[in-house]
Order: sequence, then C-alpha cells, then structure tokens
Amino acid sequence: MMVVYGTKKKLKTVKKLGRMRCTNCGHDVEASLTKEAGYFHICFIPVFPHLGYKIILCPNCGIMKKLTNEEFKELKDN
Ligand SMILES: [Zn+2]
Repeated sequence: MMVVYGTKKKLKTVKKLGRMRCTNCGHDVEASLTKEAGYFHICFIPVFPHLGYKIILCPNCGIMKKLTNEEFKELKDN
C-alpha cells in the first residue's frame, strides 16, 4: 500500500498595506499583510495544522519580509 503524505499551504491576505518598496526585489508594489496557513496530511486527510509564517507579501518576488508575532500584530492593528 502506498501512503501519500506531505504538507499543504494556503496564503491568506489579512490586510492591504498599500504601496511599499520591496526590501527583497526593490520594486514599488502593492504589499499585503499575509498569513500562511498550513497543515500536514496523510493520504490527503489533514492530520494536524502546522504553524505558518506571517509575512509581508510582494506580488513581484513572492516574499518581502518575514514578521515576528509582535510586528504582525502592530501592522494588523494600525
Ligand atoms: Zn519583491
């Protein structure tokens, strides 16, 4: 029997941050505060969630900055 396992990831936009200069690729982009939600699955049945990253997402290069919980909360509440 073959067992298929792995992780699935989903990106969820929490808040639009407006135009920002990406620190990674240097482009002026519409940045968004994004949460990565993921889970571990066995045979495509979700088994347990794993902690995802909190990031500022750049639509050009895919990632601008990984955030700490404090940074994420501050940006979300402002
Ligand atoms: Zn970028």
